[in-house]
Amino acid sequence: MSETEQKLRNEARALLEQGRVDCIIGYEAGSLKFTTTPLITADIEDAERLVINPFITNNLSVFLGDVTGKAGIVAKGCDSRSIVSLIQDQQVVRENIFIIGIPCAGVIDLNKIEKLTGKDRDELDDIARQGDRALVTVGGVKKEFQAKDVLMDDCLSCDMPTPQEYDILLDEIGPMVCDKELSRSQIKELEDMTPEQRWAFWKNEFSRCIRCYACRQVCPACFCERCFVEESEPQWISPLPRWQDNLIFQLTRMIHVAGRCTDCGECQRACPVNIPLRSLSKRMEEIVDELFNYKAGTDKDAPPLMATYKSEEAEDFIR
Ligand code: SF4
Ligand code: SF4
Ligand code: SF4
Repeated sequence: MSETEQKLRNEARALLEQGRVDCIIGYEAGSLKFTTTPLITADIEDAERLVINPFITNNLSVFLGDVTGKAGIVAKGCDSRSIVSLIQDQQVVRENIFIIGIPCAGVIDLNKIEKLTGKDRDELDDIARQGDRALVTVGGVKKEFQAKDVLMDDCLSCDMPTPQEYDILLDEIGPMVCDKELSRSQIKELEDMTPEQRWAFWKNEFSRCIRCYACRQVCPACFCERCFVEESEPQWISPLPRWQDNLIFQLTRMIHVAGRCTDCGECQRACPVNIPLRSLSKRMEEIVDELFNYKAGTDKDAPPLMATYKSEEAEDFIR
């Protein structure tokens, strides 16, 4: 067990014992190899189940609306930005949460490891991160890869891996692995296409969407009590997963998360048919920064981007 993991367990136990929080939202080991799953508990003994490792994928801030009382929440850099964004949108009251900040050196993308090794994750013995390298053991043989080739795309361009908003920070972060070009290589491929090719690309991608809404459910920025897709009067889109309606669903979602999306990458990871949703959400995040010099979730006292307007702002996007 790492020192940080032990610190987390001690802290969670103390918070629950002293009644400073009513529950803890963290990660525990998943039922499958190299996975974790969210743990939401009020039981002091469950503190021993908490883990921190390179597989803590979920953005736990999505659960803050589901718990009552004061919650202690484990937060990586991107998660803490989502929490701040929820505070800005008055979805979360700062005083009702205790943020346990954890240093994050990036989350491992199992799909990339499977591709590199040619093995299914079940066939792998071990995956370990050592600075800018990743060591993968297969059939007793250790293979070495560059960390940049196995980390999630969003982690490769992460500007704030250390939470900026926290009540306790468990550790200092080690050296980060950053490769912004690699991080946006899928977006670059799309930018290099003609409009016709891009249209054909997205038509094909959204023909595969089964409208399971996993992308919406894991997204902390999607907090509407009733999503527009479920409205029947007026009915904005058909409930049937036709590609045109799937595309409208996703593009509308992107507008709704503009200024709220922290590029946590969860929507793309959750999509069961691997639609490259981050190519939309990351580009939207970039546009928000380019147009408004605004990064989501960096100032809890700032008004939400989409709830403010300055008369000198350009309107040339409405034509
Ligand atoms: S985006 Fe940043 S904070 Fe979030 S998991 Fe990746 S490296 Fe960590
Ligand atoms: S997670 Fe994927 S398949 Fe499900 S609704 Fe979203 S885009 Fe469609
Ligand atoms: S749109 Fe995707 S990347 Fe952005 S906050 Fe939501 S889940 Fe995270």
